[in-house]
Amino acid sequence: MASRKKVKKAVKKMSPKALFLAILFFAIVIAGYYLYDNYFKEKPEVKGELSFHFMMVGNADAGDCVYIKAGDNDILIDGGSDYDSLDDIENYVNTYCTDNTLEYVIVTHADLDHIACFAGSANGQSLFDKYEVSTIIDFPLSNKDTKAYERYQAERLAEINDGNTVHYTALECYNNQNGAKRVYDLSADGSLKLEVLYNYFYEHESDDENNYSVCVMFHHGDRQFLFTGDLEKEGEEKLAQKYDFTQVELFKAGHHGSTTSSNEILLREIKPKICVACCCAGSVEYTDYLPSTFPSRPFYERISVYTDKIYVPMTVDLVVNAEKPLVDYKGTQITNYDRGDQLTPLHGNIVVYSEADKEVGVTCSHEQKVLKDTDWFKNMSVLWAQSPSFS
Ligand SMILES: [Zn+2]
Repeated sequence: MASRKKVKKAVKKMSPKALFLAILFFAIVIAGYYLYDNYFKEKPEVKGELSFHFMMVGNADAGDCVYIKAGDNDILIDGGSDYDSLDDIENYVNTYCTDNTLEYVIVTHADLDHIACFAGSANGQSLFDKYEVSTIIDFPLSNKDTKAYERYQAERLAEINDGNTVHYTALECYNNQNGAKRVYDLSADGSLKLEVLYNYFYEHESDDENNYSVCVMFHHGDRQFLFTGDLEKEGEEKLAQKYDFTQVELFKAGHHGSTTSSNEILLREIKPKICVACCCAGSVEYTDYLPSTFPSRPFYERISVYTDKIYVPMTVDLVVNAEKPLVDYKGTQITNYDRGDQLTPLHGNIVVYSEADKEVGVTCSHEQKVLKDTDWFKNMSVLWAQSPSFS
């Protein structure tokens, strides 16, 4: 190896032009490294015929937005939790979707954390303004009367009126009605399919909006990948009764890894090999009780019986708020935690991909270790252990 002296001597001997070119060369290498690190690493190469991309959507609220590349089809399930995520979603999707067309958009239910970027902000654009959508599949029932849901309906109608879009409810799909299909072929050889599953709450009312969620199964040959939106226990029970499930490769955790979804009655049927919880780990937006933070301890305990391949896009820091100590449901006083401001990628953008004749793989833009081996989980386990048990 050249000594430092020799390098200094060589630099001295260089003409100004050569020196300039050498500096330029190193600048390009360094810029290239940063570009790779900040751009391509965030957006992994698509591997296999089918890939599921669980995006970081830049805020601490739990919300679903999953981009799916299935053969030549570009598919989105849900539109994130915040209007501000629009650019992040567009930026990510455009890495893979080059014709500005989403062949399928599936909107699972009318809660804001699933429709935000399809509804758009009061004065802003929506994902329907950004993309030509061929087929919209959404929920037949809703109890919502929010402004966001009104905007969603208006944006959906405008997209349909543009002329190249068909819209079906999941019930029409399940019943093969009005041109809708229960099973959509996503490849010429028949190896990739999108199946719209039957949910009892497509045609029965529920007090819980989550139960109206559209449920779909992707198939790649014999492999299955299950999405149930925010379906709650009653819905999961009906689903488990209706279908003779076999093991699934991937289960998107029900309701962001909350205590109330991903129940044993469904898990024992589907025995998931990989599970992704779409949430900002540590978020206390719906709870004051630490083990209920997303992903919740009861969820973790149920799912970890079947797999340790559990992934979460981001984390938010927790700060102790001594001002409002809490009493848990058993009457025990516990310390309260509030959500801080610090957002940090955990697994980052998570891609689950399926290649024929190879095991289903997972690649993450940040942490590669499974959840239980991350520092976040080790720290959270200590806090969970200090809180009264659910049992
Ligand atoms: Zn949700």
